[in-house]
Amino acid sequence: MLIVEDEPALLRALQINLRARGYEVATSSAGQDALVVAARQPPDAVLLDLGLPDMDGTELIRKIRTWSSVPVIVLSGRAGSGDKIRALDAGADDYVTKPFAMEELLARLRAALRRDAHVAAGSTFTVGSCQIDLAAHTVSRAGLDGTEPVRLTKTEWRMLEVLLQAPGRLVPSAKLLAELWGPGAEDNTHYLRFHMARLRRKLEDDPARPRHLLTEPGMGYRYQPPARRTA
Ligand code: CA
Repeated sequence: MLIVEDEPALLRALQINLRARGYEVATSSAGQDALVVAARQPPDAVLLDLGLPDMDGTELIRKIRTWSSVPVIVLSGRAGSGDKIRALDAGADDYVTKPFAMEELLARLRAALRRDAHVAAGSTFTVGSCQIDLAAHTVSRAGLDGTEPVRLTKTEWRMLEVLLQAPGRLVPSAKLLAELWGPGAEDNTHYLRFHMARLRRKLEDDPARPRHLLTEPGMGYRYQPPARRTA
C-alpha cells in the first residue's frame, strides 16, 4: 500500500491505522518521489492526496496509469465535484473527502481491493492447446496422454498476464516495458522480443506461426482469444 500525502499528521494517522490492520505501508509526501517508490515496489493500492507540493494529484494518477492498473483512492481536500470528476477521469477508482472517517476510508479500500482481486482472478484463458489460469498461476498443455504443466519464468508470467487482461486489444510496447521493468525501460523493446519468443515456444502450437500471441510491428503485442464457437 502506498500513501501519498503531504500533511504529516494525516500521513501518520493513515500509516498507523493501516499498519494496525495488517497492511504493508510505504509513504511519500510528494508526487515525483511517489512515482519512484511505486516503480521500485509496485503497491497493491494507492491512497492519494490531490494537493501535493510538486504535482497535482490528478497528474500523478495519469502517470501511474501509463503503466499500472493498481486501485487508486483519492483523498480530496476540496469539496467541489470538479476535482473529483477530473481525478476519476484520470483513472482514480474512488475518493473520500477530507475530513473523512477512518472506517469509511478502510471500507472503500477493502471494496477497491476486492474489485481488483476479482478482475485479476478473471478465470482461464486459452492459447492453442494450453489453458492458462491466472488466479491459480498455472498453465497446462493438453496432449495425447492428458495434460501436463508448463513452467513459465516470472517475467513470462507478468508479460502474459498483461496481455491476457486486455483480450483482443493492442498493448503498446511502452506499456508492457513499464509494467515489467518500471518507468524508464521504454527503449528496451528487444527484451520484449526475447521473452515473447520464449512464451510462444512454450504456449503456441506452432511458434513460427503464432495465432494467439501476436506482434503488431512497431506498436506492440496483442492476445487474440480463440474464435468463439457458435452453437
Ligand atoms: Ca495536500
